[in-house]
Amino acid sequence: MVQKDMLALGRRRSVIREIFEYGRKRKVEIGAENVFDFSLGNPSIPAPPQVTETLSRLLQNTDPATLHAYTSAPGDPQVRQSVANYVKDTFGFAASPALIYMTAGAAASLTVTLTALVGPGDEVVVLAPFFPEYTVFIERTGATVRPILCREEDFQVDPTALSHAITPNTRAIIINSPNNPTGAVLSLESVKAIAAILTEKETAFGHPIYLISDEPYRELTYGGVEVPYLPLYYPDTVVCYSFSKSLSLPGERIGYILVSPTATDAADVFDAVCGAGRALGFVCAPSLFQHMVKDCIGLVADITAYDRNRRRLLEILTDCGFDVVKPDGAFYLFMRSLEPDAVAFCERAREQELLLVPSDDFGMPGFVRIAYCVSFEQIERSEEAFRRLADSYQGGH
Ligand code: PLP
Repeated sequence: MVQKDMLALGRRRSVIREIFEYGRKRKVEIGAENVFDFSLGNPSIPAPPQVTETLSRLLQNTDPATLHAYTSAPGDPQVRQSVANYVKDTFGFAASPALIYMTAGAAASLTVTLTALVGPGDEVVVLAPFFPEYTVFIERTGATVRPILCREEDFQVDPTALSHAITPNTRAIIINSPNNPTGAVLSLESVKAIAAILTEKETAFGHPIYLISDEPYRELTYGGVEVPYLPLYYPDTVVCYSFSKSLSLPGERIGYILVSPTATDAADVFDAVCGAGRALGFVCAPSLFQHMVKDCIGLVADITAYDRNRRRLLEILTDCGFDVVKPDGAFYLFMRSLEPDAVAFCERAREQELLLVPSDDFGMPGFVRIAYCVSFEQIERSEEAFRRLADSYQGGH
């Protein structure tokens, strides 16, 4: 016998993976250049050269027994200090190395933080559309997901919806900006509105409501758009950071949790994070990549290719008459489906060899996600396919 919920989870088909697998098969059948696969959010640009250089240097010059050893569970002390220094220098926020916990990427940061903060009977608010794994991570703790819809015109938070969604059982809220799947960056106005509502509810209910800031796309913004640093605006913040996208290293699994020193019971929160990391069997974050972080924190992969893709795709889609909100960050674009059923729309897109992801699993039906971390050539070649897709809806086909 196995655990039924885990069995079901292991067997549940991931829509995105399924589309990706279909794309692989189709590329063999008709040639890769004829399939326009926009399904997966896998970075398509290399890590900065300094990352490769640092890794080579570490491998050549450090005693392997030291380099590959277990670090202390929250991470190497110098690495944690380098993260705190970076946060101070970049955002002017006085982070404490004693409250930084190195992890195996954002997914680990989130599961550890949620396990530390919430349990059965608790509620966690998420802003839809959201990264579908949030549901898995939250439900595993026994807590309940409370989604609220963002405004469709700009994917900013709807303060009234947020205010109504918070109950005496709300323990946490997850914010993801820049956002997967919309590419939206929460404005300073939105951040301040969220902080004001949470503060008011904390006072009303007499307990902290922790804001979990999921930040794998923090540095991926375009046109000078700024991503407000949430601990500066709301004391009860826990940052779940990842180097997967900023350094283009998603398979290497490295990130961190930063508990704000201003958070209610910050030391307890941190100790619970250590307990959750231990209970989940993380032991310590990958040692080689922790040491890489010490020297490479602050570097960002060259994202000009993403920006070029974003601008060209936006031009193509707008020209074809699709309804899209200009994304300011990450590498996703969220487009309104031309029929209410986004799954049916994606089926019709497939007839044009366009592989798009229906938004249903992101908690906001009626849209599709387009991951534009692909080659520029794919975007150019897809123009006619998008045009044919739009045309197929003219005259009520
Ligand atoms: N959160 C969001 C919003 C994501 O899009 C992703 C990955 O795509 C993750 C978390 C997980 O990132 P990581 O690879 O760092 O675990």
